[in-house]
Amino acid sequence: MQAVEERDVVIVGGGICGLATALALHRKGIESLVLESSESLRSSGAAITIRTNGWLALDHLGVGDKIRKNATPLQAYREVGLDSRSGMLIKTEAPLSKGEVRCVKRSELIEALAGDLPDGTIRLGCRVLYVETDPVTSFPVLQLSNGSTLKAKVLIGCDGVNSVVLDYLEMNPTMVSYTSAVRGFTSYPAGHKFDNVFAITKANGVILGWVPVNDNLVYWFITRLWTSQDSTISRDQELIRMLSLQSIQNFPAEMTEMIKRSDKSSLSSMRFRYRAPWDLLYGRFRKGTVTVAGDALHAMSPFIGQGGSASLEDSIVLARCLSKKLSEVTEEGEGSCRRKYEEALANYVEERRMRLLGLSVLSYVLNKLNEGPCTVVKIVCVLILIVFFRDRIAHTAFDCGQL
Ligand SMILES: Cc1cc2nc3c(=O)[nH]c(=O)nc-3n(C[C@H](O)[C@H](O)[C@H](O)COP(=O)(O)OP(=O)(O)OC[C@H]3O[C@@H](n4cnc5c(N)ncnc54)[C@H](O)[C@@H]3O)c2cc1C
Repeated sequence: MQAVEERDVVIVGGGICGLATALALHRKGIESLVLESSESLRSSGAAITIRTNGWLALDHLGVGDKIRKNATPLQAYREVGLDSRSGMLIKTEAPLSKGEVRCVKRSELIEALAGDLPDGTIRLGCRVLYVETDPVTSFPVLQLSNGSTLKAKVLIGCDGVNSVVLDYLEMNPTMVSYTSAVRGFTSYPAGHKFDNVFAITKANGVILGWVPVNDNLVYWFITRLWTSQDSTISRDQELIRMLSLQSIQNFPAEMTEMIKRSDKSSLSSMRFRYRAPWDLLYGRFRKGTVTVAGDALHAMSPFIGQGGSASLEDSIVLARCLSKKLSEVTEEGEGSCRRKYEEALANYVEERRMRLLGLSVLSYVLNKLNEGPCTVVKIVCVLILIVFFRDRIAHTAFDCGQL
């Protein structure tokens, strides 16, 4: 019979949240094991915009400056109108964040987080099939795809929108949006001519955005209503490019050229998923010593640009709560340890709940405004924005606190 492996802290998922959580725990002297189903650390989605709150979290993790080096600060959010004669003209310009905002290559963010972890922390090619409760100890037991079993004292699900840990918690699945996005990079070896702003333009229900990462690299995305054709293109990058070009065929030549010249391997297409705000208000995101973080907890539409930064915040709060409670363990024995783990995770969920509720309401409203053809829904969304989100970027000033 195969011996059952036992670990104190296990994290499912080696994306931004899983790696940040492992790093935050490591900084607090708590070792963990990250189980990642892919054979390599994934960086699909090309780039990510990180606002002030995300940079604060990265600084608390001790990797902010490493990541800043290759990412130019962005000055503003700019909406550009299409004009049949002159091409493009600036319609509106507004601040993008209460402080710092940069667009970062996902691969660099992942590498920076993984690079500071002790050897052996990440186990690649390791898919968790399901989680059960050990009838004797009440700790979680993980069934892995290679047929082995792993026992954990604390289990943290950072396994994204289709989380198996969320299934164990018996939470509602995330909601599927009517909107989808294509993302990619275009390299300009001799330098690009774009301003350092987060720019978007809209026409015929399509939004095209472009954001310089640095002097030679531009991240772009196209969002539009999802069609059944999208489900078949997600694995064919040439088809993704072709359909992207079709959806922006009336846009200025500079824009279509950017898509034509894009790095094929960076292209990805996906339909959005998000967690409903009422789930965040009432959901039970902890069972015993098991919890979730990142998209598994709070998937949100990208119109708010906060999913990744909020995941970084989760990692700090989770590590802080765990390390505080573990320092209070005075008695010997599994029972006393389990109580402290449970208290730590309960504190984490409560500390995060209202912060994430605010973000998810804003994300939900912005998603409905972009996908809903219904005028009544749009009026209600605009009213919510006026009443509750007069300062549309207040959420970027949040500091999750020191580790
Ligand atoms: C179009 C788009 C644009 C976005 N733009 C921004 C932005 O500008 N700024 C921002 O902050 N956020 C943005 N986001 C959100 C951001 O990408 C996510 O919030 C963030 O990547 C979530 O990270 P995560 O680690 O929680 O999940 P994921 O990145 O999904 O990682 C989950 C990991 O778990 C692994 N996994 C899954 N199941 C298992 C299993 N059973 N066993 C083992 N491993 C498993 C997966 O392989 C994966 O590596 C955007 C999202 C989209 C869709």
